Amino acid sequence: MYKAYPEIDLTKCDGCGVCIDSCPAGAAAMIGDRLVISEDCTYCTDCEALCPAGAISCPFEIVLSETEMK
Ligand code: SF4
Ligand code: SF4
Repeated sequence: MYKAYPEIDLTKCDGCGVCIDSCPAGAAAMIGDRLVISEDCTYCTDCEALCPAGAISCPFEIVLSETEMK
């Protein structure tokens, strides 16, 4: 199964921590000066909407198949 993750533009990220504080899955963290997203990410896309620097993009659309929704 393919799992999608947010894409982080590290040239825009200033490490403000908004995504870390607001991630409902606790999946965003700073390691050194680098933002990383763990496999706990549910791809809710909240961080894309909240990042003040526009550093996060969630370009994939999640489509559930009928079998996954049962
Ligand atoms: S909210 Fe945006 S700028 Fe702030 S730490 Fe997260 S990715 Fe970086
Ligand atoms: S997409 Fe949602 S779960 Fe994934 S890192 Fe962003 S806020 Fe957290």
